[in-house]
Amino acid sequence: MTIRVFTPETGFVQDMADVLRLFYGGAPIFFNEEGEADLRVEHAVSRQNGRWCDQFTGGPVSVFHLQGADGAGELEQKRLRKRAVKLALYEYCKKLTGVHPPWGSLTGIRPSRLYYEALEEGLDPVRALVDVFDVTEDRARLLDEMHEMQAGVRTPPEGAFDIYIGIPFCKTRCAYCSFSSGEIGDGHLVAPYVQALKREIALSAQIVAEKGLRARALYVGGGTPTAIPHEALEEIIFAAREAFPGAVEQTVEAGRPDTIDRPMLEMLLRAGTTRISVNPQTFNDETLRRIGRAHTARETIAAYQLARAAGFTDINMDLIAALPGETLEDFRRTLETTVSLAPESVTVHALAIKRSSRLHEQMHVQGGGHGLTPASEAEQMTALARRTLAAGGWKPYYLYRQKYMAGNLENVGYARPGMACLYNIGNMEETASVLALGAGAITKWLFDRARRIERAPNVKNIEAYIERVEEMAARKRALIFS
Ligand code: SF4
Repeated sequence: MTIRVFTPETGFVQDMADVLRLFYGGAPIFFNEEGEADLRVEHAVSRQNGRWCDQFTGGPVSVFHLQGADGAGELEQKRLRKRAVKLALYEYCKKLTGVHPPWGSLTGIRPSRLYYEALEEGLDPVRALVDVFDVTEDRARLLDEMHEMQAGVRTPPEGAFDIYIGIPFCKTRCAYCSFSSGEIGDGHLVAPYVQALKREIALSAQIVAEKGLRARALYVGGGTPTAIPHEALEEIIFAAREAFPGAVEQTVEAGRPDTIDRPMLEMLLRAGTTRISVNPQTFNDETLRRIGRAHTARETIAAYQLARAAGFTDINMDLIAALPGETLEDFRRTLETTVSLAPESVTVHALAIKRSSRLHEQMHVQGGGHGLTPASEAEQMTALARRTLAAGGWKPYYLYRQKYMAGNLENVGYARPGMACLYNIGNMEETASVLALGAGAITKWLFDRARRIERAPNVKNIEAYIERVEEMAARKRALIFS
């Protein structure tokens, strides 16, 4: 399906595209360009009694939206205009399609941010989300439950920051992957990467020491950190612990079960790891093969049991709802197996097919359908996860949304009470500064009591990172001292 929109508001075309995607997924969208179209939308803007009027017309539907923004400053005026244009287009699409997206008109903003803003303003946050943004009652209640789990751990103490270390290697590339990780291949980049990372760790430690800051949580992610030899990973973790002492939480993503063995687990415990992730994604072997994960469900269970036997008391499992070819029954079986293993936390992702993934290429470039799950079934899967996990004692503690997610759903981290991951909360809620090290890692620093957030990205390419590591540290210094 091709969509063409004709609008005088050229400054908001990205925002309009985000709204259209809520209803039409990855359909090509063109702005102010004539050509063949399955849906042609005309946007007219006028002024009536000092108020802006947006009218969207096309197909059998026309929506007329009035909004006053006079008297506000220029920036505020722009913000209100953008919101009005998006809401008018949202109403138009909803009327045209009869679809009510779970998160209503929200795009490009964390739902929990609006929840907490409403709370600070003394409003009922559930009502505010439902009434203003058309969020479904069910999703607004999800935020309410999450709020309970975040009580007391949402914000780190004054002067504390979190650390992210990226290991951008994987054994094979998953079909849905959009991360900047590379297949490990013959491993020739691992040793120079470890050296570069240790250099960045040392330089960054000087920066935070000069600022008198202290570490709260350390998170080693990727890629798959355990894809590299355990001796190499040990060097990195020990260097980080020495450089940033005092972290109360240390997570290592041991994501792929086929990278987990006894020496690796023993090293992780020796290195002070308090939490690991063993990620099934699904317990269906056929799906695992289809999405390019080079392991079986049985191997996931074995890796999990090995981690338990080694002494890990905080294990997370990641699942993905709406994987290609999976039915609600497949997903139910995956949930049942997960519950029977009883990890401390479970993160339920809704499949997101991003442009840089192989799945996107297969679907859009090669034209394959690949059994994508309909939005309604994807929603049933995440609802089932919520019910099943609630019945087993897991509660939602953080959530985030991404573009191109199946059914416009969300990723939700569930945990047993008291087992919420501090790093995940601080990072997703943007309540903690994150010092990020490694290729493609993005340092995110909070200023002025989190009212201003600035970022310093590292280069994604592994070779470029190795060559330019001093520059990456200099970027961080400029940011943190700005
Ligand atoms: S394990 Fe994660 S980072 Fe690695 S290829 Fe799969 S999705 Fe990408």
